[in-house]
Amino acid sequence: MDFRDSPEDAAFRQEVRDFLRTELPHDLRAADDAILGVGIGEDERERDWLKTLAKRGWVAPAWPKAYGGAGLSVMQQFVFNEEMARAAAPRPNFLAIGLAGPTIIVHGTEEQKREHLSGILSGENFWCQGFSEPGAGSDLASLQTRAVEDGDDYIINGQKIWTSGAHRSQRMMLLARTEADAPKHKGISYFLLNMQSPGITVRPLTNMADTPSFNEVFFDNVRVPKSDMLGELNRGWYVATTTLDFERSGIINGVSLQRLVHELAAFVRERKDVRDDVGLESVRHELADRAIEAEISIVLSYRVVTMQTKGIVPNQEASITKLFGSELAQRIARTGVKLGGLYGQLRQGSPRAPLNGRLDALYRIAIGSTLAGGTSEIQRGVIAQRGLGMPRG
Ligand SMILES: Cc1cc2nc3c(=O)[nH]c(=O)nc-3n(C[C@H](O)[C@H](O)[C@H](O)COP(=O)(O)OP(=O)(O)OC[C@H]3O[C@@H](n4cnc5c(N)ncnc54)[C@H](O)[C@@H]3O)c2cc1C
Repeated sequence: MDFRDSPEDAAFRQEVRDFLRTELPHDLRAADDAILGVGIGEDERERDWLKTLAKRGWVAPAWPKAYGGAGLSVMQQFVFNEEMARAAAPRPNFLAIGLAGPTIIVHGTEEQKREHLSGILSGENFWCQGFSEPGAGSDLASLQTRAVEDGDDYIINGQKIWTSGAHRSQRMMLLARTEADAPKHKGISYFLLNMQSPGITVRPLTNMADTPSFNEVFFDNVRVPKSDMLGELNRGWYVATTTLDFERSGIINGVSLQRLVHELAAFVRERKDVRDDVGLESVRHELADRAIEAEISIVLSYRVVTMQTKGIVPNQEASITKLFGSELAQRIARTGVKLGGLYGQLRQGSPRAPLNGRLDALYRIAIGSTLAGGTSEIQRGVIAQRGLGMPRG
């Protein structure tokens, strides 16, 4: 196994590095909640950064050129993602670029592609994902939001929850039940909902890291035109699995985790008091373990990418990568808090908080990593069933 870049990939890597060195503002770095894969563009400067990427044609590295993407090979996309993560460059609007756009490219009509893709590429239109409901998360097909046909429209009633970035989005990928009596996977349709439609109420939910990144969204007789249905009536579940496949394989970035480990090591190198408090030997060993695990996370991603370059769709391999990376994010956060000793739990703004409260914030953010994009139990189920041939639980 040769992990070195081919000469073409090495040249491309250099091109990305040069671009980041000259174009990424020095004081702009991805917030730590980027480890959850949900950059919602709360910071206006992230939106400007998106426009800089747009000018270079790198907003959507994975999209085919025919649809305005960069048309990069799978390996080049991987190199691009690695370098972005290494530079801590923000990736705002991931839900549009990584999920909505690619799903529209696979399932959309030409008219839908024309209408929606350019707004994503220009950085104008942000999207959110209206899948989860209070009674439907892991068992997503139990969703109860209803869409009832009325002339040229459907009328939506119901509620979504945990909708990241709904308060900043122009559109939503919405799953709603169009056939109440059909088996649960068969009566769902997929809509590209305009968030400005009358009857939508977005109520913020503050997560345990004190970030108002997700919301409850209520629908009270919201009209959505039939032309905004993606894919066929009652076949939305199969469209949604495309979205979920894109989500699972893109959610955790091993290089971001490796960067965190290196930042923790730099913190310990600078702080003799930390080394004395926690004990040098245990700090060295614990950081070495996290460093090894971050390497493993990167190697697991290499496997997924290698499969993709050969045209094989990663399935349990994507679950292994997501599961390992998200649980590792939590281990790294725990190591970080431990390094801070008693001060490690202090929040941003407290004069004694190490790294201005980043250790504590990271710990609280990382909790969500094993829930978002499918919980660890669900990923283990996929691995057991599809990877090991175990019967369903
Ligand atoms: C940071 C973050 C951002 C999110 N953003 C969005 C978003 O933008 N849009 C969106 O639609 N959703 C979003 N979600 C919701 C996320 O998809 C759900 O939280 C997730 O699917 C789990 O669903 P649930 O919360 O309803 O938990 P439940 O499904 O109720 O699960 C509760 C517990 O039971 C376990 N469990 C459930 N079923 C099984 C089973 N079959 N076998 C074994 N154990 C099981 C779970 O693993 C979990 O531990 C987000 C979540 C987080 C944390």
